[in-house]
Parts: sequence; C-alpha cells; structure tokens
Amino acid sequence: MKVALLGATGSIGKSTLDVIRSDPDSFEVVLLTAHRNRELLEKIAKEFPHARIAVSNIPEAIIESGADIVINGIAGSAGLEPSRVTLENGIDLALANKESIVMAGPLLRECAARTGAKIIPVDSEHSAIFRLLERSGEIDEILLTASGGPFRTLSKETLACVGPEEALHHPTWNMGAKISLDSATMANKGLEVIEAARLFDLPVEKIKVVIHPQSIVHSMIRLHDGSVYAQLSQPDMRLPIQFALYYPDSAPKLCIETLHFDDLTLHFESPDPERFPMLPLAYQAHKTGPLYPIAYNAANEIAAEAFLSGSIHFMDIARITEQVLMHGWTGELKWESVWKTDHDARNLAKSII
Ligand code: MG
Repeated sequence: MKVALLGATGSIGKSTLDVIRSDPDSFEVVLLTAHRNRELLEKIAKEFPHARIAVSNIPEAIIESGADIVINGIAGSAGLEPSRVTLENGIDLALANKESIVMAGPLLRECAARTGAKIIPVDSEHSAIFRLLERSGEIDEILLTASGGPFRTLSKETLACVGPEEALHHPTWNMGAKISLDSATMANKGLEVIEAARLFDLPVEKIKVVIHPQSIVHSMIRLHDGSVYAQLSQPDMRLPIQFALYYPDSAPKLCIETLHFDDLTLHFESPDPERFPMLPLAYQAHKTGPLYPIAYNAANEIAAEAFLSGSIHFMDIARITEQVLMHGWTGELKWESVWKTDHDARNLAKSII
C-alpha cells in the first residue's frame, strides 16, 4: 500500500509513522509533506529514502506520488484543497483534517462518489462512530464525547483572564497548538458536530455532545431500539490511523496500553453553553445555511491566532465568531463560494479584531 502523508511533522504525522514502522512490509511511504518544520521533515525523509518531499505545490505532489491512500494531517483550512485533489483523483482519503468536511463536506462526498474513492475519518470520535455504524442497525442519535479541555471546571470569571499557555495544555491528548486551543474553547467539538452531521447524514439536532474528561469512550451511537454502543480504548491516535490505513481489512495487534476495568470509573456530564459558547454557535452555524460553517471556521481560525499572539482575550474568540455569523452568508455550497466565504469571513473577523 502506497501512503502519502500530509503534515508529516505534526502529531498525526508522528502517529502515522509509528503505525507504518510497526508493519513496514505492508506500507511504502511515497510522499511526505510539511509546512513549517522543514528540519524535522528532512530527518524523517532519511528514514524513507524513496518518498518524495514537498513543502509547497502539495496537490501536484499528491497526483504525481502514485499513492493508494492519502493521510491528511494538515491543520486548519489549508487541508481542504489537498482533500479535494485526493478524491478528485480517485485516491482514498484518511481524513484527520476536520475543516475539510466542515467547509465542503457535501462537495467532497460528491467527488468521492464520482471517482469511487473512500473517505475514512481519522478524527478519533468519528473513527469510533464509523466503526460502530459498520456493525449496528438504524441509528437514532450520535453521542459525541468531548474531554471538555483544560478549562472544563473554570468559572466564567476565571475564563475571562486565561492566557495562551494555559489554553495549550490539554489534559488527555497531546496535539498541535491550534487543535489544543480549539479544545479549550470547545470550538473543536463544534467543528466535530458539523463534521459528524455531514459525514453520517444526520440532522445536527441528532448529534449530542457528552463531556467525558478521561477520553476513554471515543463516541457512542444510540439505536432506534434504545440500545447504546460505545467504542473504548486508551486515548491513542495511532488507533484511528491504523484503522483507516488497513480499512476495510482488520488491522494487526497494536501495542497500545491495555484498558483495564479493575478500578475504572467513567465520568460524564453536560457541556455548559454559557462558558463555552463556541459549541452552541456551531449548531447555529450548521442550521442557518451551508456557508455558515465556513464562516464559523474562518472566524475561529483568525480569532484563535489573535488570542495566541496576545491581542484578544479568551472569551473574545466566541464573541468575534458570533459577530461574523451575524453577517448574511447566503448562497449555495459550491467550490467558488467555499473560497469566497472563507476569504470574506477572515477579513470580517480581522476588521472586528
Ligand atoms: Mg476529535
């Protein structure tokens, strides 16, 4: 199996390389890409001397790589165009870049249906749901678990004055800066609600978020008969990545920490929309129209950057996003409107800041 790895130096890249190293006879790395950390990319490239390296012109590199599957571990909206090119060329897509689905899910699925390529989610929650759906019946609702992030227990007053360093310290997952901050604001779960609605064809009201700080239950589905199915494991991104790489075959044993039940208590609670308004804003965006999720994502990316550089407060991220969503983002979802909305929403967010 020829694998193209986009975002090789990030946390998804690292976990993917671990999976590939554990079964080198099954995989050939044909492309490695990175955006910022070129030094590390060159180091990784030495281990895979037959792989091409790309830091720009990623779509071209994907087409020329001859890959059977592309792992998209790029952060943010920059991941969308590589996703489109992958599916357009009939290559299977293991997708860790949730923004691709949030911005253009229906268009990407239409591409995949046309070329016969598969989209296999690598977001841990969506991978769990994907696996559960394969073996269950008629689904009534999705219970999307959320760790709650590092600020789960903080009061609204305290949240007003938290800084970037505290926001980047995630309690259960070790991830890149953008997604760690998104976890702290719960924008990450907001994006995942939209991702789930679009991947699994459910109205957004049927996607419920459940806070589960231990990140052991990766998501659940409730069937029409009332039974609930859950997927459990220690939090380890190698698991969804391995599932996607071997899909539809079953994967070999992976050396992750065994989940023991001798002394295990699983805790669940409801999310608080007052302290974490990015979550209700995501539902609102998805319900208002097909271009609103793009505006939500763009506003969040610009506000997140501004917070990390110290120019706005933590709670301003949601305030700015809310203001951007008040604009009329009307129109149909087409490739041109995706990029225009993204561009205009970014500019509006910048002008508000
Ligand atoms: Mg996730």
